[in-house]
Amino acid sequence: MDSATYPAAALSTNPGLFSSMEPPARLGVFGDPVAHSISPAMHNAALQKDGLAMQYVRLHATVEEFPAAARALAGAGFLGANVTIPHKTAALEICDDLDEHARITGAVNTLVVDGGRLCGFSTDGPGLVRAVHEEFFVDLRDLRVMVLGAGGGAGRSIAVQCALEKCERLVLVNRTAEKAAALARELASRFRSDRLVGPAERCIAVPWEEKAIAAALDGCDLLINATSIGLRRTDPSPISPSLLTPNLLVFDTIYSAGRTKLVENAAAAGARACDGLSMLLHQGALSYEIWTNRPAPVEEMRGALMAARG
Ligand code: NDP
Repeated sequence: MDSATYPAAALSTNPGLFSSMEPPARLGVFGDPVAHSISPAMHNAALQKDGLAMQYVRLHATVEEFPAAARALAGAGFLGANVTIPHKTAALEICDDLDEHARITGAVNTLVVDGGRLCGFSTDGPGLVRAVHEEFFVDLRDLRVMVLGAGGGAGRSIAVQCALEKCERLVLVNRTAEKAAALARELASRFRSDRLVGPAERCIAVPWEEKAIAAALDGCDLLINATSIGLRRTDPSPISPSLLTPNLLVFDTIYSAGRTKLVENAAAAGARACDGLSMLLHQGALSYEIWTNRPAPVEEMRGALMAARG
């Protein structure tokens, strides 16, 4: 299958380009940069497995080009598209309808063409729920969760999902402390319930300081790294190895090949730890299910992702 990157502007200027492909392009991912995306591998594996005569392509769009290109999806015969950096917030603005997660997160990662309307979904958080269950055999809603990097896009999406799930406890940590504090204030009311502990205690922000993290981590079951620390092979662990204990579950959202320092340190401490491939897989599987209205062939998609990341 062709793994090239196409100019997204062609959706409006030359829509025939996509229909003339063999098989025709009916799905894709908008981004800038986008050439590194391994999403085509997983979606094309799924389309082939299901015998659907269409392909998923990379669509390079600048910030200026994105809105018009996304609106041209229907005219070019697309079912929808994924949206990645830096367009997730802009995608929200151009949608006619939004799912609850996209609305609260303020970001869209999945566009669906529905007649003349464009619908926006966010599958990152729901994908994490499936990934946590698959990796650790537990439900996110039953856990006390600490999110490192709560001020970033991924961290916000994960925090919103924890709030929608009303998980036991949510501790938000971010290098720029005010972002985590603002998010905690925004989400706290969603933790109101008849449980004994009140919303103020169930959703808190703590400063990016070893002592504060250590104290809060003591009351957590799951540590999620949603910072970009670990993207480079030479990156250190976002937190000191001395904070990692055998009872912790550690989920690093980084999905590049090779273990991150955090996963390495967690395993050395006797904790169960995983990288972010399963989150990438399940957010993709959910997008696929929304577009095709059929269960995603998850194992084919996983195999393709693992091969593509090297
Ligand atoms: P953003 O740029 O939006 O956010 C980056 C986050 O990392 C911010 O919270 C930022 O803090 C923090 N950060 C960056 N550098 C440091 C540092 N040196 N020390 C402490 N904190 C730091 O990126 P995204 O949210 O889009 O992506 C974050 C990570 O999530 C990436 O590694 C990406 O690979 C992963 N991801 C994984 C997905 C999956 O499916 N597995 C899906 C999406 C993302 P501050 O606010 O202070 O700048």
